[in-house]
Amino acid sequence: MEPAVTGRGPSPDRPLLAAAVAGEARGTIEVAGRRTGAAELLTAASAVADRIAGAATVAVHATPTPETVAAVLGCLLAGAAAVPVPPDAGPVERAHVLRDSAATLLLDPGGGVALPGVPVVPVDLRARSSTSWPEQPAAGTALVVYTSGTTGPPKGAVLSRAALAADLDALAAAWAWTPDDTLVHGLPLFHVHGLVLGVLGALRVGSALRHTGRPDPAAYAAAARAGGTLFFGVPTVWSRLAAAPSTASALRGARLLVSGSAALPAQVFARVEELTGHRIVERYGTTETLITVSARADGERRPGQVGTPLDGVTTRLVATDGTGADVPRDGRSMGELWVRGATLFDGYLGPGGRVRPAVDPDGWYRTGDVAVIDPDGWHRIVGRASTDLLDCGGFRIGAGEVEDAVRAHPAVREVAVVGLPDPDLGQRPVAYVVADGVTEAELVAFVAGTLSVHKRPREVRFVDALPRNALGKVLKHELAAGTAGS
Ligand code: AMP
Repeated sequence: MEPAVTGRGPSPDRPLLAAAVAGEARGTIEVAGRRTGAAELLTAASAVADRIAGAATVAVHATPTPETVAAVLGCLLAGAAAVPVPPDAGPVERAHVLRDSAATLLLDPGGGVALPGVPVVPVDLRARSSTSWPEQPAAGTALVVYTSGTTGPPKGAVLSRAALAADLDALAAAWAWTPDDTLVHGLPLFHVHGLVLGVLGALRVGSALRHTGRPDPAAYAAAARAGGTLFFGVPTVWSRLAAAPSTASALRGARLLVSGSAALPAQVFARVEELTGHRIVERYGTTETLITVSARADGERRPGQVGTPLDGVTTRLVATDGTGADVPRDGRSMGELWVRGATLFDGYLGPGGRVRPAVDPDGWYRTGDVAVIDPDGWHRIVGRASTDLLDCGGFRIGAGEVEDAVRAHPAVREVAVVGLPDPDLGQRPVAYVVADGVTEAELVAFVAGTLSVHKRPREVRFVDALPRNALGKVLKHELAAGTAGS
C-alpha cells in the first residue's frame, strides 16, 4: 500500500533540523509551559554548541524542559552525539551511562546534578550566539539512547542523523504531518518516542509542539481546546483518557491520535473511538530501529494491529526454531519479526567507543518480537519472544491474546500474563491482575469460555498495581522473576 505523501515527502538528505534551520517552522515550541519560537530555540542551542564545541559525546540530563530541547539541539548543531539520561536515573544507572558512552560533558538544564569526573555545563535559554554551524555529515551520530535488554546493564543504541531523518520523513508521510499541525504529547524526553518523534519530528516538519509536562487526560484536553491536532501517547495515556469520558470528548476536534511503545488493548481502542470519534493510529518500533510499521492517516486502522511497513522499511517473519525459515504471512502463523531499512541504528556502543553492528550481512535486524502478518501485509505484534510467547504443554500461547481475554471481564482494570516455570507444562500462564470484586475461579472460567481451554491462566495473582517503566510498559521480567507483587 502506498502511503500518502504530503508536503515535501521523504528526503533524508535534507538537514536533520531542516524546517527549523531554514526558518520555515511556523509554530511555537512549548515545553513546561514556556513558549519559544524555533528560531529563538536555535539561537540558544547555538550558544550551547559554542560551549561544547569539540566534544564527541555529551550527556543531557533530560528533564521535560525547553532547556533539554536546546541542549539536544546544541549537540546536533555542534556534531556531538547526545546521550539523553533519564532525570530519575539512580546514581548507578547514571554512572553506567556516562562511563559506557564516554561522555565528556553533562548538559544540565536545571542545574544541580553533581557528578564526579564529568564537568557539568548549565543550559541557559537566554544565552545567544551568532555562530553559524554548518550541517553535520548525515552518517554522523545524532543520539546514543540507552535501552534495557533482558540481561545485563542498559546498552547504548547509536542512531545516525540519516536514520532519524529517514524515519521522521517516513512518519510525516504516513501521518500526513505538516507545518499546519500542532503536535501534543507529554512523553519523557529521554526516549525515542518523546525526543525523536516528539521533539525532533516537530522541528524537522516545522509544526508547533506543545509538551504537556505529564501525559494526563486533562492536559491533553486543554491542549486540544487550544488547537492541538496531532496527539502522541503510550497505551496507558489512552487508557486513562478512555476512563475520563467528559475530558476525552475535547479530543473530538483533533486530527490524529497515535499510540505506540506497547500494545494498545482493543477495548481502549474502542472506548476512545466512542468518546472522541477517532480510531487511534498504532505504530510499532524499537529504540534500535526507530518506528518501522504504522497505520496511515488516510487509511484503515485495525484494533490490535500496528499497520504496514513505512516507506523504505522491509519486514520478514522468521521461524523461532533457529532454522531461519520464512513463516507464511497468513494471519495465523507466528514468527520473529526482522526488519531492514534506512531507519536502523548503527549498532550498540562497545568498549573504546567502537560500534558493534547488530544486523546480519544482509542488513536484517532481529527485533526479538513475535508477530503475525496478514496476507495483505498488516502486522500484529504478539509480544517479546522472551516473555510473551509461552510454551505450555506443547502449545504456543501469545500472552497478549490471554491478556485481551482477561481484560474483557468488566471487573478487570489491568492485566499482565507471564509464563512461570512448571514441572508438568514447561510454562504455565499466570495472570497478574488489578481488579475489584472478582475471584480467581471466575476469571479462569471467563477466559476458558472465550479462548481455547488450554490458553486459560492456570493461576491468577491479584496485585495493587503492575510494575511499569517510565513509558508505562509493564516490566514482565520482574513479574516472571517473582520480584513484583504476588
Ligand atoms: P523500546 O526500545 O523501549 O522502544 O521498546 C521496543 C519494544 O516495545 C518493541 O520491541 C515491542 O516489544 C514493544 N512495542 C513497541 N511498539 C509496540 C506496539 N505498537 N505494539 C506492541 N508492542 C510494541
